[in-house]
Amino acid sequence: METELFVGGKWVPASSGARFDVLDPATGGVIASVADGGVEDAIAAVDAASDALPAWAATAPRVRSEILRRAFELMTSRTDDLAKLMSQENGKALVDARGELTYAAEFFRWYAEEAVRADGTVTTAPSGANRIVVIRQPVGVSVLVTPWNFPAAMATRKIGPALAAGCTVVLKPASDTPLTALAMAGVLAEAGVPAGVVNVLPSRSSGKVVSAMLRDPRVRKLSFTGSTEVGRILLAQAADHVVNTSMELGGNAPFLVFADADLDAAIEGAMIAKMRNAGEACTAANRFYVEAPIASAFAERLAARMAALRVGPGTDENTQVGPLVNEDTVDKVDRLVRSAVQEGAKTATGGTRPDGPGFYYPPTVLTDVRPESRILREEIFGPVAPIVTFTDEAEAIRLANDTEFGLVAYVYTGDLARGLRVSEGIEAGMVGLNRGLVSDPAAPFGGVKQSGIGREGGHEGMLEYLESKYIAVSW
Ligand code: NAP
Repeated sequence: METELFVGGKWVPASSGARFDVLDPATGGVIASVADGGVEDAIAAVDAASDALPAWAATAPRVRSEILRRAFELMTSRTDDLAKLMSQENGKALVDARGELTYAAEFFRWYAEEAVRADGTVTTAPSGANRIVVIRQPVGVSVLVTPWNFPAAMATRKIGPALAAGCTVVLKPASDTPLTALAMAGVLAEAGVPAGVVNVLPSRSSGKVVSAMLRDPRVRKLSFTGSTEVGRILLAQAADHVVNTSMELGGNAPFLVFADADLDAAIEGAMIAKMRNAGEACTAANRFYVEAPIASAFAERLAARMAALRVGPGTDENTQVGPLVNEDTVDKVDRLVRSAVQEGAKTATGGTRPDGPGFYYPPTVLTDVRPESRILREEIFGPVAPIVTFTDEAEAIRLANDTEFGLVAYVYTGDLARGLRVSEGIEAGMVGLNRGLVSDPAAPFGGVKQSGIGREGGHEGMLEYLESKYIAVSW
């Protein structure tokens, strides 16, 4: 298990000698002590990324592509070991950890394929006076900041396109889950990524180290995945030096079920959209809006499926729902459920926080939730499904859009024309139409409103790390 900083191709302790503990969410016990990077280490990582930039940017796209392809193969061959490590530090069930690693490795494969397709354009100016030549060049040194809920995929979704584009990076993983990120640094080095191209800096002083890097004029890009609250702070800091930013922020996904939907499919989709990663996903269905005639059947069947899930330590093969990542997350889920119940919501299953040890919360379904309830306004980030009924299509769209967030929405209906109409009417970057899962490395992932700026994945994902340069030329 790697526990030092990864800077300039070497495993190094923090310059201050400081370390911090990583906890096992299933027990609250310590599983590792990790080097705690400070501002000096952050600047050393930027030095390394900056020194490595010219050679990496000039490396043939095919060579960059084949290194990423090797990283995909190595990650895939190590899925089981990496899944155990991730499950230990994050708490997620092994089945979720393996699923995440497959998804995470796919970003290396997809961007191995995209690395050789950074195309530009040549057109004739409308006046006919000259040609307009547009070429794409790497943005430069990129700071990547990732959350704890998908410790591998949120990192590869940034590292893959950045490296494909010819950028060098400093990754600052979440302090709850630095071990997976450090293990991936090892995989990338083994795949042939040159020293300094990828640096990984665990830190408990995230605010200080990230702002020090954003003040460094060599840093030209910030790609952040995390809460809207922290995203706002970082956007303000990036503004001081006009640093290029991509922001993948919080969600509050509505899950709409119309009375003409295939109910079996809607329940299946709801289980995936709600329970992938125990509800700790930005894409997690946060608000269920069900058309009145089928609302009680939907709630009954969802509650039965939720109640049957096996809750336990993530590392146990039989577990379907692991513990949440930390105590604060359980506190928040518990608070939201209690306040909804106080306002009149009914508990169809779950709803009671168990005694310790470990950071568990049971799969929970709430019905009769009041539309203005806090649980419908904030990200729950836990295994709780609040259900509200609606009476017509216009009301469903209005309720879905009644949020400052706009990441993803889910729509279930047997009428495809209605499905497309509602998908167009919903303010979100992504819609799952009769599907409970949208994430795909080949598709542009991202939000509108306060869910973010920019897209990750697909062809669009690499453009976030490329600048267009226009050359006006007469020949
Ligand atoms: P978070 O608290 O915003 O933290 C995200 C990252 O930012 C962590 O690495 C964190 O480090 C760091 N950070 C915290 N405060 C900072 C500051 N002042 N300056 C610089 N960096 C700072 O989010 P989280 O709790 O880890 O993750 C859950 C959130 O991520 C949810 O809102 C979820 O919706 C969102 N998310 C969005 C997407 C998407 O694609 N849109 C995907 C996954 C998750 P520390 O760990 O040291 O605090």
